[in-house]
Amino acid sequence: MMNKIEHIGIAVKDIKESNELFTKLLGVQPYKEEAVESEGVITSFFQVGETKIELLEGTNENSPITKFIEKKGEGVHHLAFDVDDIDAEIRRLEDEGFTLIHQTAKPGADNKLIAFLHPKSTNGVLVELCQDAPQ
Ligand code: ZN
Repeated sequence: MMNKIEHIGIAVKDIKESNELFTKLLGVQPYKEEAVESEGVITSFFQVGETKIELLEGTNENSPITKFIEKKGEGVHHLAFDVDDIDAEIRRLEDEGFTLIHQTAKPGADNKLIAFLHPKSTNGVLVELCQDAPQ
């Protein structure tokens, strides 16, 4: 079951500049900055009520974020839904005919287990599932 939008991911060219911009926009500082080396990204997170904004900057030219910005420019990159049981949700979505980028959950930023759906099966929207990682 999908509980809520956990965060919205936004692709940016320069996370330092964007941290300043979003601090002004949202009126709060990012509560965390974290590199995810397997994805070639640096992330920062802002808490906005129950939801978060995740900024992502690519750290190399093969990073999915660098490629996204080359194609589409900066902007909304993905929607992340909070789920209780990511493995069950992956199986449910596969049974429904969605294409998963990750068939099994993997560690993501901000102490989450994550999996992405391919946007070709979701009207062009990149969807992330995330579950709090067991501590
Ligand atoms: Zn995300």
